[in-house]
Amino acid sequence: MFYDVIVIGGGAAGLMCAIQAGKRGRRTLIIDHAKKIGSKIIISGGGRCNFTNRQVTSEQYVSNNPHFCTSALSRFSPQDFIEWVKKHKIKFHEKKLGQLFCDHTAKDIVQMLIRECDRAHVEMGLGCSVSGIAKNQEQFEIKTTQGDFVSSSLVIATGGLSIPKLGASGFGYKIAKQFGLQMIPTHPALDGFMLGPLKNNFFEKLAGVSMECIVSCNGESFRENILFTHKGVSGPAALQASLYWNKGDVVTLDLLPAFNSYEWLLKNKKLRPRLEIKNLLSEMWPMRFSEFFCQGQCKEEGFSHRPLQEIKDKGLELFSKKIHAWQITPWDTVGYQKAEVTRGGVDTHELSSKTMEAKKVKGLYFIGEVVDVTGQLGGYNFQWAWSSGWAAGQVV
Ligand SMILES: Cc1cc2nc3c(=O)[nH]c(=O)nc-3n(C[C@H](O)[C@H](O)[C@H](O)COP(=O)(O)OP(=O)(O)OC[C@H]3O[C@@H](n4cnc5c(N)ncnc54)[C@H](O)[C@@H]3O)c2cc1C
Repeated sequence: MFYDVIVIGGGAAGLMCAIQAGKRGRRTLIIDHAKKIGSKIIISGGGRCNFTNRQVTSEQYVSNNPHFCTSALSRFSPQDFIEWVKKHKIKFHEKKLGQLFCDHTAKDIVQMLIRECDRAHVEMGLGCSVSGIAKNQEQFEIKTTQGDFVSSSLVIATGGLSIPKLGASGFGYKIAKQFGLQMIPTHPALDGFMLGPLKNNFFEKLAGVSMECIVSCNGESFRENILFTHKGVSGPAALQASLYWNKGDVVTLDLLPAFNSYEWLLKNKKLRPRLEIKNLLSEMWPMRFSEFFCQGQCKEEGFSHRPLQEIKDKGLELFSKKIHAWQITPWDTVGYQKAEVTRGGVDTHELSSKTMEAKKVKGLYFIGEVVDVTGQLGGYNFQWAWSSGWAAGQVV
């Protein structure tokens, strides 16, 4: 059967692209091996979908080609998506830092996209697996479990490797390689850190402790909460830092941001000289963390259980430096089964930033997470999916 446009992958990017193509009168088919479309949208943002961010620039994205995303993001902006959401009467709110979430449920966004697909006469082949793709002169031949299809444009919107149980696969990368496109190596990102070497019974006892920190990695810093887990450190600040982390890199935590802990320690030494440092710190941190940190950090200073009055000012100064620059070297991140996104992907140098078409293969497009454009936490990844899908949808 012939279609003008076949989109493989019915996630955020694929749906947006198909809607735009359909609206232009192109006969469009979405193929997805999952039985339902948009399953990542449904679980996103804790079930409320952080569908965009009010402030989106290329600065919030990681890519080998840092400005590649600018064109698509400016042509279909967060404001454009917000207008859609308003048009469909979906109530939403700003949680923090410009992050927009549905008031009710992420399903509202999926239903909106399904309605738009219906209006644009987009056809869907769900539960459909692709066994082979070939290009024959001007057309693509797609062999699937639901028959063979032919199209003049083929859009790959199969996402990254994160969350395989929701249908993630390396399919997009395989097709890129088949057509001779370069890849940027992939890694799980927006993912918790595993602290393999630090892992001991005491560390595991921290599981569930949450506190505000500044987490820094490779020149990027994030002030938000961290959450200790049985495996290591998670929570928004750690997830953000993971986007910039490579194996072997050090991650630095400021455990009392914007606070002069040295002055505070000196003041308390005068006011409460008999107090142990761990008890003092438990006024700022959960006790479990205070005990852990003092045990680990004080030992080498030789004042683990001594009252403040017995600790030299120099010792307190060194200790406060550690509070503001606690260094950990994660063993790895948790992995694709938990990571929110996949960093890396199809090399953007292979694609037109205006249309997402492969420069070497006329009619072949890559959009969304399969491309080497990965956003920070905060609605940026969906905005990239909407914008890149929209850009391709104008020309396919
Ligand atoms: C738990 C979680 C929460 C998240 N929360 C947010 C958030 O709140 N805000 C935000 O901006 N981002 C969030 N993200 C990231 C966001 O979901 C993704 O970046 C976005 O969904 C990428 O869209 P996509 O269309 O490129 O890929 P996907 O949404 O992954 O869609 C890919 C589609 O392709 C299909 N597919 C894969 N392989 C094949 C194949 N071989 N054949 C046929 N079909 C195939 C899949 O079934 C899927 O339907 C979250 C991610 C996770 C995992």
